[in-house]
Parts: sequence; structure tokens; C-alpha cells
Amino acid sequence: ARSQSRNTIVEFTHDDVERAWADQTLTGSIPTALEKGEFYCAYQPQLNLITREVIGFEALARWDHPTFGTISPGRFIPLCENSGHINALTLDLLKQIIRDLPKIHDIWGEVDISINLSPLSLVDDEFIQEFIRVAQTSRADNDKISIEVVENLSIDGYDSAAHNLNALKAAGFDIILDDFGTGYSSLSYIRKLGASFVKIDRDFIMNLTPDNQDDLEIIRAVVTLSRQFDFKVIAEGIEKQAQAELLLNEGVLIGQGYFFARPDRLSRLIGSHLISCNT
Ligand code: C2E
Ligand code: CA
Ligand code: CA
Ligand code: CA
Repeated sequence: ARSQSRNTIVEFTHDDVERAWADQTLTGSIPTALEKGEFYCAYQPQLNLITREVIGFEALARWDHPTFGTISPGRFIPLCENSGHINALTLDLLKQIIRDLPKIHDIWGEVDISINLSPLSLVDDEFIQEFIRVAQTSRADNDKISIEVVENLSIDGYDSAAHNLNALKAAGFDIILDDFGTGYSSLSYIRKLGASFVKIDRDFIMNLTPDNQDDLEIIRAVVTLSRQFDFKVIAEGIEKQAQAELLLNEGVLIGQGYFFARPDRLSRLIGSHLISCNT
């Protein structure tokens, strides 16, 4: 919250100062946090909305900070991006996914795990080569790892992003267009990115009811478009049974959300009801 004073000098409130101070402290401790392994993946299942089987997981970053407790990615991802640590964090998470894959496959079968790529990483050719190299030198099956990228790429980064997405695809990764519907992409743009999945943003699911014609129309448009261009559709942020049913009625076959499960550590998911879904 920033207040405009009468003589137009921008005043920072106490909260702004505290926040800036905390951000600086947090940013300063990112390198040690990476070294000490304080970042981990929380996995959130994606389900087949018809059978309710687990068909994949999204890996979401968490920071288990020794003094501040668990910090959400909404807070630390921008700090990592602004301080040049986002690539290191992404590689750290990729390695954790590679480590966890065999266990996940033992329990849930040959499901896919998706990782989120920052737009900054996506336009960094060297990083993308490193990412592919790390995955290829492990025994992991790249075909089981998907990449979530936001639709909102800046126009100047577009050629570079398209080039890198093609390299990732060639290496076996599937591409998921995240936050779909929130950007301004034209169809041709989306096609060139080579995505196999689109993920409808939570904004369009949140208020979904049988009477909400606007959001229903958006879902219908995405489904129609996706059939035409051969994308699979995932809906995120499903919190209610009724939303899952509405989506299924509209032809959305894959869903993710608190209604099914919250993102959690693998060790905790293993002890949960999700186990029984695929057996
Ligand atoms: P996103 O990629 O759109 O991820 C979905 C967010 O929605 C996650 O928040 C997830 O926990 C939350 N969510 C899932 N189901 C529900 C639901 O039913 N209701 C509600 N209200 N929320 C739900 P999270 O984990 O806090 O992540 C926030 C954002 O941070 C992500 O949005 C993504 O943009 C970014 N992020 C997370 N992990 C990473 C990462 O490893 N790398 C990068 N570059 N970004 C990441
Ligand atoms: Ca995502
Ligand atoms: Ca695959
Ligand atoms: Ca989203």
C-alpha cells in the first residue's frame, strides 16, 4: 500500500518498508537455501475427471525457511527471478523430480510430472541446454516430465521461447500452456509454441456455476479450440464437486484442485487416500 501525499511525494507505509526489508533478507539467503536444500517440491495430483484416477502431478516449489517457516512461491519466485537465481532453483527442482519419479511411478503407474518454467528461463538458450542435459544424463524418462509455461510471454522473447520449446519437445518433454485464457496470444502464436496441453486458469474455474454463462462460454470456447488444434485440456483450481461435474459436462477430462488434493510433500501424499485411487 502506497499513499500519495498532498505534495505528491510518494510515501511508503510502515508495511512497505518492512516488506522491502524482508524481501532483501530473503533474497540474501537464497544461495544458502539452495546449498542447504531448503527448497522442495510439493506435488499436486491431476486426475482423470471420469475415472478419478491420478494421471499426473504438478511440482510446485516451496521454501522451508529455518526462521520464516514455509514461504509460498508467489513470494520467493519473483525474488529468485530478480536476483538471478531462478535457473539454479529450477535445476534444483528438476533434480528432485528426477529423484522422485521412480517412487511416484511405483505407486501411481507411468504418470507425468510437470515443472513450471519462468519466462526468464525459457528465453535463456544456455539454460535450456543445461536443463535438457541434466534430464538426459539421469536415467529419468523425459517423456514423463512436462513443462508448464505461461501464455503471457513478452513479444520480444517470442522467437527465442518458440525455439527453446521446440528443443525441449525434441528432447521428449511435453509442453503445457499454463494460465490459459489470461494472455493475449493469437492462435497462430500458440500453435507455434508446440504445446500439447492447455491449462485453463483458475480465474475461470473459481466462480463456475451452472448460472455463470460467461465463464461457461469461455470453457466451451477453449474446449472447441482445443479439439480443433488437438490440445488436451486441464482445468486447475477445482474446489468443488459441482465444478468438476460442470467441467466434465463441457468435455474437460483432466482436473486439478483442492477438491481432489492440495499440493504436498511426496512423503505425505504417499500416506493419503490418493494411494487407493489407482489400485
Ligand atoms: P500456477 O502454476 O498457476 O500454480 C497453481 C497454483 O494454484 C498453485 O499455487 C496451487 O497450489 C494453487 N492451487 C491449486 N489448486 C487450487 C485450488 O483448488 N484452489 C486454489 N485457490 N488454489 C489452488 P502455488 O503453489 O502457491 O504457486 C503459485 C504460483 O507460483 C504458480 O502458479 C506458479 O506460477 C509459481 N510457481 C510455483 N512453483 C514454481 C516453480 O517451481 N517455478 C516457477 N517458475 N514458478 C513456480
Ligand atoms: Ca503451473
Ligand atoms: Ca508424456
Ligand atoms: Ca494459474
